[in-house]
Amino acid sequence: MKQPYLLLTPGPLSTTPTVKAAMQIDYCTWDSDYRQVTETIRQQILDLAQANADDYTTVLLQGSGSYGVEATIGTAVPRKNAVLMVAINGAYGQRISEIADYYDIPHVDVVFAEDEIVDPERINEALNAHPEVTHFATIHSETTTGILNPIEQLVPLLKARGIVSIIDAMSSLGGVPINVDQLDCDYLVSSANKCVQGVPGFAFIIAKKSELAKTAGNARSLSLDLYAQWQAMTKQPGKWRFTSPTHVVHAFAQALNELALEGGVEPRYRRYAASQSRLSSGMQALGFDLVIDPAYQGPIITSFKYPSEQFDFDDFYQFIKERGFVIYPGKVSTIPSFRIGTIGDVDTTDINRLLAIISDYRQLNP
Ligand SMILES: *Cc1c(COP(=O)(O)O)cnc(C)c1O
Repeated sequence: MKQPYLLLTPGPLSTTPTVKAAMQIDYCTWDSDYRQVTETIRQQILDLAQANADDYTTVLLQGSGSYGVEATIGTAVPRKNAVLMVAINGAYGQRISEIADYYDIPHVDVVFAEDEIVDPERINEALNAHPEVTHFATIHSETTTGILNPIEQLVPLLKARGIVSIIDAMSSLGGVPINVDQLDCDYLVSSANKCVQGVPGFAFIIAKKSELAKTAGNARSLSLDLYAQWQAMTKQPGKWRFTSPTHVVHAFAQALNELALEGGVEPRYRRYAASQSRLSSGMQALGFDLVIDPAYQGPIITSFKYPSEQFDFDDFYQFIKERGFVIYPGKVSTIPSFRIGTIGDVDTTDINRLLAIISDYRQLNP
């Protein structure tokens, strides 16, 4: 089976043949071999997030990344006497606000333009204006645009006020160095099919044990009860509460091994950053302007403005797809744009091939 194209999308992304091959065996969820795989993954996730195992635990949860975010919000925030502040500068921040609506959680949304970072100064003011806030959630790498929010400056503002911090690091963990011990956040959420380069099927939450321990009975959803999931995984190490995606788990274990073989998060970050930098300069040379100021741009995904009003994205997309690459439409509501991801089993050689195709397109469609 030959892959018809390379995904330049922010997850699901292009995985290695060996990650895909790891899904060829059927495993029993009760078996000790399988439970050992799960336990090893939980530990390796802590290592890659630089979270010490005395203070933090990893809870794995079936479903896509949003299930992990929803489980965290719905479990961390108590049913009564709690107010969530959500800092929003894109669609994924907006999704957290939507989750809060579903759960009837009182929330204060602090909204920024999609091409602006979540500004610590403004958050500080908002927190001063809202002393009732008990929980805070934001996005690290806002995949809407590819902007990287300054979580290192945000979390201390929360710590100083005793506010529980929830970070959606979905599209950054594994590809951008994060030091959870230093950051001292309470919850950090990510999933299998982003920078660890596994396939879709589960989310994982790095949680501060002392905080998670307070959340018994908070959840309004059985399947998304993070506390209950943690208890089940702890009482019977490696056992998931309900049927787990066994093939996905094996692919993930292989992906973690390959991340270690690459040298860990730092070298992977450098590979992504090199691809992003090549892409960014190459695209600008071809007449595509950036949406995000390079000072705030992350290495995961880059948004480009349409080069003209006549630009036909669907035609552009098809042209590129027929030549072996799939890119992403834009998600910024105010600026006509499209996105190209630089995560997955992709490097500058692939980016150079892509730039050559886009150059051909520009010559045919000046
Ligand atoms: C991918 C992603 C999610 C989760 O999306 P799913 O489609 O549920 O996997 C959440 N937040 C961010 C920032 C993401 O990039």
